[in-house]
Amino acid sequence: MASHFTFLPNPTLTLRRSHNKISLSSIQFSNARFSVSCSSSSQAYDVVIVGAGVIGLTIARHFLVSSDLSVAIVDKAVPCSGATGAGQGHLWMVNKSIGSATWDLASRSHQLWKMLAQGLQEQGLDPMVELGWKQSGSLLIGRTDADSDMLKGRVKQLCEAGLKAEYLCSRELINEEPDLLVDNDIAAAFLPDDCQLDAYRTVAYIEKTNRNFASKGRYAEFYHDPVKCFIRSDSNGEVKAVQTSKNTLYSKKAVIVAAGCWTGCLIQELFRNWGMELHVPVRPRKGHLLVLQNFNFLQLNHGLMETDYLNHPTISGSDSSEQEKNLSVSMVASIDTAGNLLLGSSREFVGFNTDLDESVVSYIWKRVGEFFPKLKTLSLSDLSASRKVRIGLRPYMPDGKPVIGPVPALSNLYLAAGHEGSGLSMALGTAEMVVEMVLGYPGKVDSAPFAVDQVGQVCEIFIPTRRSATDERFDFVHFVDVIINEKDLESMLYGIHRRQQDLAQLLYFKRKTEDTSSAKVHAGQVQNNVYTRRDKKMYDNALRPGWKS
Ligand SMILES: Cc1cc2nc3c(=O)[nH]c(=O)nc-3n(C[C@H](O)[C@H](O)[C@H](O)COP(=O)(O)OP(=O)(O)OC[C@H]3O[C@@H](n4cnc5c(N)ncnc54)[C@H](O)[C@@H]3O)c2cc1C
Repeated sequence: MASHFTFLPNPTLTLRRSHNKISLSSIQFSNARFSVSCSSSSQAYDVVIVGAGVIGLTIARHFLVSSDLSVAIVDKAVPCSGATGAGQGHLWMVNKSIGSATWDLASRSHQLWKMLAQGLQEQGLDPMVELGWKQSGSLLIGRTDADSDMLKGRVKQLCEAGLKAEYLCSRELINEEPDLLVDNDIAAAFLPDDCQLDAYRTVAYIEKTNRNFASKGRYAEFYHDPVKCFIRSDSNGEVKAVQTSKNTLYSKKAVIVAAGCWTGCLIQELFRNWGMELHVPVRPRKGHLLVLQNFNFLQLNHGLMETDYLNHPTISGSDSSEQEKNLSVSMVASIDTAGNLLLGSSREFVGFNTDLDESVVSYIWKRVGEFFPKLKTLSLSDLSASRKVRIGLRPYMPDGKPVIGPVPALSNLYLAAGHEGSGLSMALGTAEMVVEMVLGYPGKVDSAPFAVDQVGQVCEIFIPTRRSATDERFDFVHFVDVIINEKDLESMLYGIHRRQQDLAQLLYFKRKTEDTSSAKVHAGQVQNNVYTRRDKKMYDNALRPGWKS
């Protein structure tokens, strides 16, 4: 096994076990072979969850309230430090497409959120206080004739799906939102039952619920404790523990990776040490959200979203800068339960960078000003005392679906990531789905579209170091075969090693497009990046006429 660290032999548990905790002294290892330094503590839980964003936390909650399993949750920082902390909190159905792969999951999730809010009320608690819950209703706003037609069709479909939905012409729209710039072409789809929550309050509420199980020994949190590696059983190869910087957390039933946009890199890093690579093409998609605290200058009765939000066009024009070519800004506006005006939002691929970019904030301000002329009378600099900017990295998947399910060949390892701009909204449905999978219950929602082995989502590449050249060649060919088109190729190459990228691209052009000129151009680039003599031989072979797997 190619492993410079962590291939932990089967521990023989010989001594005490109390409250699911096993002290390190109680574990005896035969032929122990460590190169990871021993952890400060070693404990066992039924389920270990990596990532305490809204997805990880709600999965933990669902296990705790619907089973008797014990749960540990680990985060490299704290909840809300990832995308969750930037979330606007819309649980809207107005922007979801009926018949899409995510429709059933979103619908079920919305139903579960509503049941949670109602349950709080029945316990005498106020969902507005606990979750920042508000049934504000949502408006999807279009400004062209084509938009109006699309909105009419959408309203019809939503009604057929059993939701309360109305088409509003410009005259009706001005009654709902007097501060909106209304001209003849403007129209909206209105969903009066759509709700929103506050990400911070909701996360605090979920943590509080989870912590109620701590005294029974069923729940533990490990924050500021990044996961360093997985430990595999040498008997069945399954993941049996998660090694963090401070702890070894054994899992008796399942390990769930819900690390948002970090899931791909994390899995890659963890698997690399087993001589195996699992490529999850999740990418960070940065978003800015402008928050104007206690802002009452604008009247806003509902949550608003422009139709551009449905496909996120970039703001580029003919003489655009590189940034503009990569930046999408669509108007989304809502007021939260604390009276803050939330204005968004941007989308861009700039790696894992989370720095504040004032130019992006200005683009958002300009865009919302097109819808609310009153805002144009204010300058952003006048608002510096009351403004905040939330920045987060949405976990983007190229095919627009989260990946939820067991990893093939490692059946106790599950992924739950890639919810992009709908993670808050789809959290409870995702949590239910994961729990049903782990417990072997029939699913309320079909999980097949989210399976890890869906083509275009994940593929396996074996790192060649300890393998024969023939195997290596075969694996690369296999990798290329599951790629459907160039867009797929681009996202699947993201984050993998340079030499693998080179070879995969070369093979792609050669095998998939029969485009020998691109293959040759690429071969030129490959030559510059050749690492070893063996690599070069492989590239040369790949270019030979008639070379197949
Ligand atoms: C501006 C903006 C507005 C949004 N608005 C909405 C909205 O209105 N409605 C909606 O539904 N969604 C919205 N979203 C999307 C939503 O916020 C995300 O889909 C959701 O938060 C993703 O949750 P997550 O738990 O998967 O990821 P995250 O919240 O990013 O959590 C992942 C966690 O994994 C941890 N982690 C990473 N690596 C490691 C490691 N090695 N070890 C341990 N832990 C690790 C991180 O620290 C992090 O806490 C918005 C997002 C943005 C950016």
